Amino acid sequence: MQLSIELPEKIDSILRNRLIYTFKIFCTLSDYDYTENSEYKLSYNDNSDDKYFKCKSKFFDLKNINDLNIQWYEIYNQSISDKYGIHKLPVFFLKNDVYEIDILAEIFIWISLQFEYVQKNENFGHIYPFKNSLHGHFNLDPKIPYASIWIEILSNKIKEFYKFETKDNFKKTYIINSHDIDFLPKSNFNSFIRLFKNYLISIIRFKDKKYSKQLLKLLIKKFPNYNKLFYNFNILMNIENEYKAKGIYMFLIENTHYKDGNYNIDDEIFKLMVKKCIDNGNEIGLHGSYSTSDQKGKLTEELNKLQNEGINISGVRQHWLRFNYNHYFKEVDENKLKYDMTIGFNETNGFRSGLAAAYPPYDFENETHHKFLEFPLAIMENTLYFEDKDKYQWYDKSEKILKNVYNFKYGGVSILWHDSAFQGTNFPIEFIELYKKILNDKRFEFTDGKTTFDYFKPIYLKNKLELN
Ligand SMILES: [Zn+2]
Repeated sequence: MQLSIELPEKIDSILRNRLIYTFKIFCTLSDYDYTENSEYKLSYNDNSDDKYFKCKSKFFDLKNINDLNIQWYEIYNQSISDKYGIHKLPVFFLKNDVYEIDILAEIFIWISLQFEYVQKNENFGHIYPFKNSLHGHFNLDPKIPYASIWIEILSNKIKEFYKFETKDNFKKTYIINSHDIDFLPKSNFNSFIRLFKNYLISIIRFKDKKYSKQLLKLLIKKFPNYNKLFYNFNILMNIENEYKAKGIYMFLIENTHYKDGNYNIDDEIFKLMVKKCIDNGNEIGLHGSYSTSDQKGKLTEELNKLQNEGINISGVRQHWLRFNYNHYFKEVDENKLKYDMTIGFNETNGFRSGLAAAYPPYDFENETHHKFLEFPLAIMENTLYFEDKDKYQWYDKSEKILKNVYNFKYGGVSILWHDSAFQGTNFPIEFIELYKKILNDKRFEFTDGKTTFDYFKPIYLKNKLELN
């Protein structure tokens, strides 16, 4: 069904661009075809004909996090409320009455991450604390995809208004199955130190007796050969082949900061492992090193180094999810990358931009969309571990997120299992079973970044959002 947006002629150009961007994403993720002049309109024009579905602009340009207040909207649609397990939604753009909500503005504040963007010069060391996110600041549940729910509500309102028939188009729900490679078995001594360090961390920091026992067992049983414990690619690839899943392997290429991995692009082991992935038909991605966010141009340098080795990269995820809003996304764009997977939380799993789907992020500098897709990081195993170090009931926590991805059905979020999870050296061995259980979930197709990008690109292009 075709749909267009009608805006007042004298509207501010920033507001115009932001509403049109959000509208195009809304159309894409609710099966409408965006057109410039359809007989069915969503109109922000006060003088417009009554035959059109009307909205009132409440949007204001957020300059500071204190500009936002929270109010609540009761969800009247019972099926949406039941599906997502909530009965009210936070509302940020509201001046007087609760009944006229500018839903596109509400969607924008989530997906653009503007709440974080306005804090871009704060000194977080480029790792955003959860408490400074929209969720953290307003005490919202990160496992609820608020922007996705607004999209469904708006879509239903429009369907009702124009009496459109609901068609349920079958969709493939892709999930990007990714592995950040933070450590490679460079030498036996290196591997021993790493294992021993993890053992101490499990006792001192995690205070997890069950896991420290597992690590002690490994230390004794494998003595004195520890290298094989960190060689996990075969195990991982066998599991993926067994479950007919594809995976993308994200490599660091530099280790100049102490928080980087233990290897770099010149190491034999790096070359060997990259070759192994390529021979097995896996996609290789760049895991942008810790210091790439400190200076613009560093990410480009890393991509060029890989290209000089004949390795072409389509996507990236930053190590420690560390990035700088002042130049990171711009650089991803300038390098014509197809996707990024950095938007997730370090402290908890869920939907950092409120959206349980792939989408092009907003470019505040040019007031348009970025030309790459974000595959939001919805689940990573270490975060599951931090959330429950006692009972190991990680499945329930991940299922709450996966269920909401499936509810929204468009897919394109990423999950992350570090390769070090596969012999119990960094995380409890139970994570392997959880990984298998997730891969066996028939609601989803677990795949790599390129496949997902190729699936979404024409869908967004149809709605006038061109991508790299
Ligand atoms: Zn990493």
